[in-house]
Amino acid sequence: DYSINLNDVSFSYNNESNAIDNITLNIPQGEFHALVGPSGGGKSTIARLISRFWDIDSGSIKIGGVDIKDIPLTQLRNIISFVTQDNFLFDCSILENIRIGNSDATDEEVFNIAKKAQCDDFIKKLPNGYHTEAGEAGKKLSGGEMQRITIARAMLKNSPILILDEATAFTDSENEDNIQKSISELTKNKTLIVIAHRLSTIKDADNIVVLNNGKIVEQGTQDYLLRNC
Ligand code: ADP
Ligand code: ADP
Repeated sequence: DYSINLNDVSFSYNNESNAIDNITLNIPQGEFHALVGPSGGGKSTIARLISRFWDIDSGSIKIGGVDIKDIPLTQLRNIISFVTQDNFLFDCSILENIRIGNSDATDEEVFNIAKKAQCDDFIKKLPNGYHTEAGEAGKKLSGGEMQRITIARAMLKNSPILILDEATAFTDSENEDNIQKSISELTKNKTLIVIAHRLSTIKDADNIVVLNNGKIVEQGTQDYLLRNC
């Protein structure tokens, strides 16, 4: 069971005002929940707290009914894949960068995942734009391309919970629709949280959570929110 339950969670950075203010949120196993709302609303903080980058000040966060404080960090890191804007690409080939997700994966497995995440065409390039092997020279990878690589890495890791910060990198991807399809195909049966900036990417969400000032101000399906807000 990889449901996520936040119960009366509050958290402040450096004892400033609460970045997360008494939030209760239930994400059933296998569901897709989107976090939306203005900048500074608390979306990334929630993602980081679920990943236990920091401990909360009060309340509880449970995964599968177990308080995350009672889950060893190494195990928690295996349960959760967190794709952020600053997931690094290392100075080795794209193939090896994706293989970080699962060091046992064969070249073929890495390539198949890369294909689904739409980064197979630049798999021979290094992050800085050079090639490890034959190929056209020197095109720099865009933010969207780099994010597709970190998505492929997370897909290969195949953890039951995936948290995706779509940030702005998706916007420069011409293949946005295709990658969305690949993501929803690959995240079937996973508990998925997407920090979303555009409604188009989250139309299939089971629940859209609108955050402002660290509080949930509204939640529901896109249809519900469009009808009632
Ligand atoms: P969002 O992801 O919705 O833009 P954040 O979770 O980043 O919102 O921010 C929530 C609040 O916490 C904001 O007031 C922001 O300024 C503050 N905050 C975020 N990260 C930090 C940090 N590392 N140190 C101090 N304050 C932070
Ligand atoms: P800590 O030192 O707080 O125990 P870790 O050693 O587990 O954290 O993680 C080291 C760094 O890796 C953290 O600063 C964080 O930014 C990043 N990180 C941790 N967990 C994840 C994750 N699930 N996905 C992506 N990045 C992570």
